[in-house]
Amino acid sequence: RMSLPKITTGSKNLDTLLGGGIEVKTITELFGEFGSGKTQICHQLAVNVQLPPEKGGLSKRAIYIDTEGTFRWERIEAMARAIGMNPDEAMENILYVRAVNSDHQMAIAEELKEIIPKENIGLVVVDSITGHFRAEYPGRENLAVRQQKLNRHLHQLMSIAELFDVAVVVTNQVMARPDVFYGDPTVAIGGHVLYHAPGIRVQLKKSRGNRRIARVVDAPHLPESEAVFAITEAGIRD
Ligand code: ATP
Ligand code: MG
Repeated sequence: RMSLPKITTGSKNLDTLLGGGIEVKTITELFGEFGSGKTQICHQLAVNVQLPPEKGGLSKRAIYIDTEGTFRWERIEAMARAIGMNPDEAMENILYVRAVNSDHQMAIAEELKEIIPKENIGLVVVDSITGHFRAEYPGRENLAVRQQKLNRHLHQLMSIAELFDVAVVVTNQVMARPDVFYGDPTVAIGGHVLYHAPGIRVQLKKSRGNRRIARVVDAPHLPESEAVFAITEAGIRD
């Protein structure tokens, strides 16, 4: 695993927690409550994937599938500037797609097979992976169908990660449950998309001010520890 290329998050603490950064050929699920930093990390990764390998990138481009309309080009500009990257180039190297519903989201995932090899893609972001599915299949009575569709979507993304050597990062909003943060995360409200799938699940939690706490869940090859990072105007930092 150590030999797989990785993308830096911008935070040394978070990178260390992840064994060096966000891995290619892997799905990484960022889950946590609103404002915990999922979207900000996704923006940062879409910038950092463009860095040369010696600076923590892959010298590749990103595809950003936005299902909630929370993507901001201004954040890309600010994050790029902060690391001395040309902001216009940084933006050109992000292929932005807005997914309007779950069928559209899955259709986009299907198209990735054609897009990725042509466009030098190193990172695929799906922010969030669960939003449309939860809205369209609400409640317990739809749980089975929702899970079935989500699983199909996950398999699309898994085969993409493996076929094309890209990192796939998905987000999943989960209600704050302080009582389960250190316990069994699978009982957290909303459940976890990667519960039955291979990948790395990173739980994010708000701390004081701009501080956030990350914890890797159920990854035997990574240490059972947590990392503190910050969301700043410049991006994700220690
Ligand atoms: P949700 O579940 O609602 O999508 P999220 O986990 O995606 O939440 P983010 O949008 O990543 O949360 O984080 C929002 C936080 O990021 C804000 O509360 C703010 O503290 C911080 N933030 C956003 N933009 C900036 C900025 N320009 N400068 C500093 N901090 C910022
Ligand atoms: Mg978000």
